[in-house]
Amino acid sequence: MAKVLDSKIPAGPVPEKWKEYKAHQRLVNPKNKLKLDVIVVGTGLAGASAAASLAEMGFNVYNFCIQDSPRRAHSIAAQGGINAAKNYQNDGDSVYRLFYDTVKGGDYRAREANVYRLAEVSNNIIDQCVAQGVPFAREYGGMLANRSFGGAQVSRTFYAKGQTGQQLLLGAYSSLSKEVQRGKVKLFTRYEMEDVVIVDGRARGIIAKNLVTGKLERFSANAVVIATGGYGNTYFLSTNAMGCNCTAAVQCFRKGAMMANPSYVQIHPTCIPVHGDKQSKLTLMSESLRNDGRIWVPKKLEDAKALQAGTKQGYEIPEEDRDYYLERRYPAFGNLVPRDVASRAAKERCDKGFGVNNTGLAVFLDFSESIQRLGIDEIRQRYGNLFDMYEEITDVNPGEKACTKNGVDYYYPMMIFPAIHYTMGGVWVDYELQTTIPGLFAIGECNFSDHGANRLGASALMQGLADGYFVLPYTIQNYLADQAIWPRLSTDLPEFAATEKAVEAEIDRLMNIKGKRSVDSIHKELGHIMWEHVGMGRTKEGLEEGLKLLKALRKEFDTNLFIPGSKEGLNVELDKAIHLRDFILMGQLVAYDALHREESCGGHFREEHQTEEGEAKRDDEHFFYVGCWEYQGDDTKAPELIKEPLEYEAIKVQTRNYKN
Ligand SMILES: Cc1cc2nc3c(=O)[nH]c(=O)nc-3n(C[C@H](O)[C@H](O)[C@H](O)COP(=O)(O)OP(=O)(O)OC[C@H]3O[C@@H](n4cnc5c(N)ncnc54)[C@H](O)[C@@H]3O)c2cc1C
Repeated sequence: MAKVLDSKIPAGPVPEKWKEYKAHQRLVNPKNKLKLDVIVVGTGLAGASAAASLAEMGFNVYNFCIQDSPRRAHSIAAQGGINAAKNYQNDGDSVYRLFYDTVKGGDYRAREANVYRLAEVSNNIIDQCVAQGVPFAREYGGMLANRSFGGAQVSRTFYAKGQTGQQLLLGAYSSLSKEVQRGKVKLFTRYEMEDVVIVDGRARGIIAKNLVTGKLERFSANAVVIATGGYGNTYFLSTNAMGCNCTAAVQCFRKGAMMANPSYVQIHPTCIPVHGDKQSKLTLMSESLRNDGRIWVPKKLEDAKALQAGTKQGYEIPEEDRDYYLERRYPAFGNLVPRDVASRAAKERCDKGFGVNNTGLAVFLDFSESIQRLGIDEIRQRYGNLFDMYEEITDVNPGEKACTKNGVDYYYPMMIFPAIHYTMGGVWVDYELQTTIPGLFAIGECNFSDHGANRLGASALMQGLADGYFVLPYTIQNYLADQAIWPRLSTDLPEFAATEKAVEAEIDRLMNIKGKRSVDSIHKELGHIMWEHVGMGRTKEGLEEGLKLLKALRKEFDTNLFIPGSKEGLNVELDKAIHLRDFILMGQLVAYDALHREESCGGHFREEHQTEEGEAKRDDEHFFYVGCWEYQGDDTKAPELIKEPLEYEAIKVQTRNYKN
C-alpha cells in the first residue's frame, strides 16, 4: 500500500487555521518547560530566533553552529530585504495579497495553509525586529520605508540598506545573547552536527564534531531542531557562503526524514557573471536593484557581437537600439517579474546570441534612467553599498556617468547573469514543522515548506524568522507536552554509542581512501555536472546522463579522494569532504526529482514542457503534489517517491501571468 504522509493541516477555512491551531494545541506548563531540553542546530535567522524564543519561554536550549560566532551564519549575507503585509504605502497590500503573491510566485506548488500562516505572521516579525532595534530604512517623516521585489505590484519589502540580513541577524543575536547570559542557551560554536540519534523511533540527540579538536561528542535532548540552511552549494558555484552545506539535513534523510521537492532550486537573475575557472564563489547583486535598474540587451545582433568582441561599450548603444526585454515581454510586472521568469528570459536572450560580455553570458542592468529621474544621491542612498561591492569586484562604477548623447546621460551599466542562489526544496515537514521522524523539526531554508517551486525575493528572511519567532515556539509544544515525564536521556545509551561509532567509522573511511584528488576538484566536477545537466534548462536525456555522471562521480569520490592531515584536531579538508559526500547524494536527489517531474514549474524548467512563448508549462492533472523522497538504506540505491497531494481552497489554481 502506498505510504501516506500526514501534513497535519488543521481543519477550517484557510484564514482561520492558524488561530484555530493555537487555540487548541497542547501547551507545556512553565514548570515543565524547565525540565525540557531542545537542541537547535544553526544560528542563522531561523536557528537564532528559535533558540532565543524557546529559551525565553523557559526551555533549556543547546544551540550549535559551525562558525566561530552565531553572527557569521550565512543569513548575514542577505542584502535586499524582508517582506511583510503592513501596507504602510497604502498601495493595496494585505495578508491575503501577500499570501496570494507567494502562492502564485511559487507556481502553485506550495502548501496553501503554510503560506497563509506565513503572510499572517509577517507583520509581527517587523514589530519584533523594530523592538529589537533593527535599523530599518525610514522615510523622512519617520515611517518605515518599503521597496518592491519581484512578483509583487506593491511595495512591501522592509530593508536596511543592502545589509538587511546582517541587521536582522544582529537583532536575533542580541536576543540570543540575552538568553546565553541568563544561562538558558548553551552555545556550541565550531561544532558540526554529524548525525541525529534516534531512540525508540524519536529524535533524542545528536552527534557533533568539535571542529577545533576533531573529537566527536554526544548531546541528548527532548527534541532536535535543524536550522542548517540550504543545499545551493551542491552546484559548487553559487551565491551561498562557502561554508553552507547540507550535511545535517542529508544525515537526517539517511535516518528517515523525507526530502521534499529537491528539484526546486532557485537561479537568481542578477549575479556577477562567472569570469574564469578559478572561482569558488559567485556574488549576488540584490534583486532590490531591479526597482530602479532596467535590464536590457542590444536589439541588433551586430551590436551584441561588438560588445562580445570588446569593440563597443554598453553606454555607446543608444536608447532606441536597446531591448528592455522584460518590460517588452511582461508589461504588467516589467523588471519585477519573479526570479525564475527573469532568469529564463536572460538565458533566452543569451542563447539567441544577444549576451553582452566576452563569453556572451551576461545582460545589462542599467541605472541611467533612474539616476536622471531621482539623482545620484538618492540612488546611492538606496543602493550605495551594492554599487561599491560591484565596483570592487569589476572595477566599474554603475553610478558613474559614461557619456552624454543628444542631451541624454548614459551611465556605466552593470553586467549580470543568473546563478544558483536558493533552494526551495528541503526536508519535508508537516504543518507543525516536524519531519517524518518524531521529535525532529526543520526550520528556515533547510525545510521545504512555504515557497513552492519558486521563492519570491525577500521571503526567505520572512520565512526563517516566522518559523523561529512565531511558528515553532508554538508547534513544538504540541510535541513536547507529554515529554516532561521522561527523565533526561543519558548519552551512555547504546543508541548514542552506536551512532557515534558509525560517524567515527565513516570519518576513518574517508581519511583512508588516500587517493589523488582534492575535495575541491571533485566538488567542481559535481558543480559542472549539476549546472550542465540539472541546471536552468532540464531535459529527460540530460537528466539521465547527469544521473549516470553522478554515479560515476560518487565512485571517484569513494576511491580517489585525498584528504591531507589527520582526523585529530582541525582539518578543514576533512570537513569539506564530509560536506561533499552529502552534496553528491543531494545532487542525485535533485536529479531524480527533476527527472520524474514531467512538467515545468517555477525554478524547475523541463525544456520538453514549455509554451510556444517559452514559458513554464505545468501539468496540474499529474503533478499537483509535493514530491517526497525516502532513503532506501544505501546512498547507491534510488530513493522512493511518496506523494503529498496539494489541496487548494482559498486560491484558484491557474496559469501564472505577469504580462497583464
Ligand atoms: C547573497 C544572498 C543574499 C540574500 N538576500 C536575501 C534577502 O535580501 N532577502 C531574503 O529574504 N533572503 C535573502 N537571501 C536568502 C536568505 O539569506 C537565506 O535563505 C536565509 O538567510 C537562510 O537562513 P537560515 O537560518 O535558514 O540558514 P543560514 O543562515 O544558512 O544558517 C545556517 C546555520 O546552520 C549552521 N549549520 C549548518 N550546518 C551545520 C551542522 N551540520 N552543524 C552545526 N551547525 C550547522 C550554520 O553554522 C548556520 O549557523 C539571500 C541569500 C544570499 C545567498
